[in-house]
Amino acid sequence: MQSLTVLGATGSIGVSTLDVVARHPDRYRIFALSGKTQLERLAAQCAQFSAQYAVVDDAAAATCLQGLIAEHGARTEVLHGADQLAAIAEDPEVDAVMAAIVGAAGLRPTLAAARAGKRVLLANKEALVMSGALFMAAVEAGGATLLPIDSEHNAVFQALPPTYRRDPAAAGVRRILLTASGGPFRDRHVDTLAGISPDEACAHPNWVMGRKISVDSATMMNKGLEVIEAHWLFGVPPEQIDVVVHRQSVIHSMVEYADGSVLAQLGNPDMRTPIAHALAFPDRINAGVSPLDLCAIGQLDFEKPDPRRFPCLPLAYAALRAGRGVPAVMNAANEAAVDAFLSGRLAYLAIARVVESVMARLASAGDGSIEELESVDAEARALACEWVASAEAA
Ligand code: NAD
Ligand code: MG
Repeated sequence: MQSLTVLGATGSIGVSTLDVVARHPDRYRIFALSGKTQLERLAAQCAQFSAQYAVVDDAAAATCLQGLIAEHGARTEVLHGADQLAAIAEDPEVDAVMAAIVGAAGLRPTLAAARAGKRVLLANKEALVMSGALFMAAVEAGGATLLPIDSEHNAVFQALPPTYRRDPAAAGVRRILLTASGGPFRDRHVDTLAGISPDEACAHPNWVMGRKISVDSATMMNKGLEVIEAHWLFGVPPEQIDVVVHRQSVIHSMVEYADGSVLAQLGNPDMRTPIAHALAFPDRINAGVSPLDLCAIGQLDFEKPDPRRFPCLPLAYAALRAGRGVPAVMNAANEAAVDAFLSGRLAYLAIARVVESVMARLASAGDGSIEELESVDAEARALACEWVASAEAA
């Protein structure tokens, strides 16, 4: 029986995780759940899974949640704040932590899980992008097992040899090929992208996801974050990581070997597959996902990503090559820009411009400690907000 904490239980990944967990009450029990909003949903989850603890942002939310939980007749203890979020990730009673908070906000508790040597199921790619070297050092020092939830990285993990240890040359790995759906605007003429609305950007053709990652998929910043994520997870340099647009999202990614073999993982685009894989690894369990019907899909297409349509992708390669604190700058600027776009304060096409301009301003950002990274993150957000405010004023 594995005892599980789900950080970000109310989100898209959190809900899919609990769907898989509910299918296997003999294998998993819920220790703690966290969520920032959607307290009704969180209360129902606490009751359904008899969670010992729930963690929310602040005291007011905690009081509200405690009341809702009581209405369900459940006995979950409600805590709040960043220290408690880390506490439910590192508690000695916990075996595995699903890191599914969106954005840099997930860094501290995910790091706490790594330091405490947990099985870390990593969906929160922003945490790894922001702190790559420090995060991987924490995994190593804590003796944690890091399992990727991002479908691409989960696919790569499955296509690598079981003995793989972040050394592509030793394993005969020539290249990692990350597939990208191309998002909702892959077929739109680039000259028509100016007036895109938040709802249009969030209407992903293949996946149902949270709003931030949906916008990232439209701009392809998501794939940029994933290139950086792949670098840290698998120890592969940027020139050996390629992106290929594959509109059906059936091949979730590939590994090319020195002998010319290319190994791929295929499946329906349903996050419950990588979630179930990581939960049960090295076993295999039912995820509730329908079988892949290749004849119904008929054909698989591949094309190169167009940098004019997706300017965020080259920015991410540049951030990875620059190293140190620059990926953290890029991530924070992007989070602020996407937030401004989603709330109607920034034009779609300006997202990449904000990121590029903030990266240029903070090109020598450092990554010596988590505190330094958090201050880099705050500085990049402030510059991005300034950019947005001056664009609004113009
Ligand atoms: P979501 O917006 O649906 O859910 C986010 C969760 O984090 C919610 O529970 C929310 O309450 C919580 N949260 C948000 N801000 C918070 C804060 N400041 N402090 C504490 N909690 C906070 O997002 P999602 O789509 O589930 O994505 C979660 C993570 O998984 C992201 O990093 C995303 O990139 C990654 N991911 C998602 C998918 C997907 O299919 N949804 C696929 C691959 C990777
Ligand atoms: Mg992905």
